[in-house]
Amino acid sequence: LPILAVVGRPNVGKSTLVNRIIGRREAVVQDVPGVTRDRVFYDADWNGRSFQLVDTGGWDPDAKGLGGSIAAQAEIAVGLADAVLFVVDATVGITDSDEAVVRILRRSDKPVLLAANKVDDLRQEGEAASLWQLGLGEPYPVSGLHGRGSGDLLDAILAALPETPEIDDVEPSGLRRIALVGRPNVGKSSLLNKLAGSDRVVVDSVAGTTVDPVDEVVTLGGQDWLLIDTAGIRKRVKEASGFEYYASLRTSGAIDRAEVCVLVLDGGQKVSEQDIRILQQTREAGRALVVAINKWDLVDEDRRSFLERELEQELVQVQWAPRINITARTGWHVDRLVPALEKALEGWETRIGTGALNTFLGRLVAEHPHPVRGGKQPRIVYATQPSTAPPTFVLFTSGKLDAAYERYIERRLREEFGFVGTPIVLQQRVRE
Ligand code: GDP
Repeated sequence: LPILAVVGRPNVGKSTLVNRIIGRREAVVQDVPGVTRDRVFYDADWNGRSFQLVDTGGWDPDAKGLGGSIAAQAEIAVGLADAVLFVVDATVGITDSDEAVVRILRRSDKPVLLAANKVDDLRQEGEAASLWQLGLGEPYPVSGLHGRGSGDLLDAILAALPETPEIDDVEPSGLRRIALVGRPNVGKSSLLNKLAGSDRVVVDSVAGTTVDPVDEVVTLGGQDWLLIDTAGIRKRVKEASGFEYYASLRTSGAIDRAEVCVLVLDGGQKVSEQDIRILQQTREAGRALVVAINKWDLVDEDRRSFLERELEQELVQVQWAPRINITARTGWHVDRLVPALEKALEGWETRIGTGALNTFLGRLVAEHPHPVRGGKQPRIVYATQPSTAPPTFVLFTSGKLDAAYERYIERRLREEFGFVGTPIVLQQRVRE
């Protein structure tokens, strides 16, 4: 979500205005180690769009001591925000410290909205007009107390914040999209036949083309699903010349269009480079993933636990993906795929609220702080999950976190919140 930092001198009525903007909902006050008390994060929305609001302490750029640390925090907040709401008390007018704040805001290059607060009635609007002198453009006269003008201000805030892509980008069919992927002969078409059974509907490809129908709708676990590009899996296509190359092209296309992939492996064979390549493609595309180990009937009973352990290692980079042993030919355990797919999609679309996330991270850092590197200890200042599908976290830090520490965070996130069957993306925004 886009971030709006709210800054202003002490006593300009900032908190009242913030409460007005967020409608006094979800006032999550961070009070955990590593997350400063001087900044408070809220989720806000207006006209169907959401953003995050960072309420900074009273900002006096010249202050020393506690005031100075608040100023430093406000600068950090401005640095990580997409836009800034600068609140001025219209009844007081411009002060020296307002001007100092403006200079810092200019340097930040962020879009700045100027709110002239405490304009409780029409008479006072003239006072707001004097704020043009700050050179920040039109002042928005508002009354945090009475709500006057806050709608116009919110409209302007949204216009200044970047658009976030719609989270829900399902194709028009509205069905969940699955792709069965894997190298030739692992049993994809056998699995397709078992999954689809006789209950299959072929979805015609683009009108005018005479090639195979591309997708099929199948009912699994009482729900309709769109199986992506099943044409590439069918026998007739497999016999065409140049099939291997064609198959790999189709695999990439199918992964891109799918929400969740079933990677089919042949339990009777070693995990191959090609298997790993396909697995990586699903990761790079950020898809939810379930791994089906097919031809389980061919694995000797006394080799099974050994094979399980071996797979554990081979598939270590997707150890979060549910693994299911199946025999597509007979249909054994094929029914276990559907709950795993549902679970994977659930994790893929999970969003952790900012309050819960920061509380959790505060605890995690307290239990196991980042090691000191070259005399410095990178700190996580704040974290947010701007998007799902796959879950993507942005960590604002005071220094680059080690890869090992990132893995620790990912592991703990999974322990705490589940995220079965989905990759997790961690992004760092370092602010020295
Ligand atoms: P695809 O290329 O991945 O679509 O693989 P197919 O579904 O065409 O299967 C390749 C071969 O493996 C065929 O001869 C299948 O009969 C066989 N096969 C598929 N699934 C199983 C299974 O679970 N057990 C055994 N023993 N053979 C299977």
